Amino acid sequence: MAAVTLYPLRFRPLYKQYLWGGRRFETHLGRKLPPDGPFAESWEVADHGQDQSIVEAGPLAGTTLHELVARFGHHLLGRHHPQPRFPLLLKYLDANQPLSVQVHPDDALARRMGLDDPGKTEAWCVLHAEPGSLIWAGFREPIDPERLRRAVAEGKLEACLHRFSPAPGQCVFLPAGTVHALGQGLLVAEIQQTSDNTFRLYDWNRVGPDGRPRPLHVEEAIQAINYDQGPVQPAAPRPGEATHIERLVRCDKFVLDRLRLATPQMAGGDGRCHILTVIQGAIHVEGDPEQAPLRLGSTVLLPAALSPVQLEPLGDETAVLLDACLP
Ligand SMILES: [Zn+2]
Repeated sequence: MAAVTLYPLRFRPLYKQYLWGGRRFETHLGRKLPPDGPFAESWEVADHGQDQSIVEAGPLAGTTLHELVARFGHHLLGRHHPQPRFPLLLKYLDANQPLSVQVHPDDALARRMGLDDPGKTEAWCVLHAEPGSLIWAGFREPIDPERLRRAVAEGKLEACLHRFSPAPGQCVFLPAGTVHALGQGLLVAEIQQTSDNTFRLYDWNRVGPDGRPRPLHVEEAIQAINYDQGPVQPAAPRPGEATHIERLVRCDKFVLDRLRLATPQMAGGDGRCHILTVIQGAIHVEGDPEQAPLRLGSTVLLPAALSPVQLEPLGDETAVLLDACLP
């Protein structure tokens, strides 16, 4: 096989049509969607079983992310090679109904439970918020498993949870073990561990498409919850490694920065794999085989072995990007 040099990779979005979704990928992110139905999630970078991001352009067009991990190893992942799958998943979510109140296990509990996927720590960045929309995250006051079990049984869980009205630009960090729910009227970008391990604690007394309540996983959730997790407030951005960079989250699973590009800046080339997604404006990415700009809501992956590439903002508007990488 001829050697292929890695380059900035764009993937085809994978859409999930859940009932709680809407049309904001079209109205707010400029996507072309099939005419009918709600679109809940757009998976931008994903290597999760059958859900595979596929390279859109260039010599690797048609290759899945899982194949890239296997074939390019440390050229893709840097010092985080080897991995059984690409360890991060980036998606957009469009919530037109509140999502269930849920919690994710950490890696250790997922392993003890014999689950295939690892734990799930995640962070949300709000792109759009209807007035009055809500996020629930963490407990309002300290609670223990017994009181929590009683609150769930009596349908009073919501009163135990901290909630706030998020504003566009805010980021919410949700370590594994944090009880949380995304409210209606929100468009968010989510970075998370590649995992589907979700324990549903409360579903707002709703029924699923089959007219029956969706299953809850109360006992698993009670095991997974971090009872020390008090109210979760939006993350306070800290100065990053350069003046155009803010650090939103740093944890043992990922680092999330926000880049503001009024002028061209270099990115990548530090031996890490970076996921960049545009949350305002548009940019040109040096070495991108696609001729079109990388626009609002579009994502590119910079493999670890790449030299630094120039990101050039297009038009008059400052371009804003999220930059997720492994720690
Ligand atoms: Zn979650």
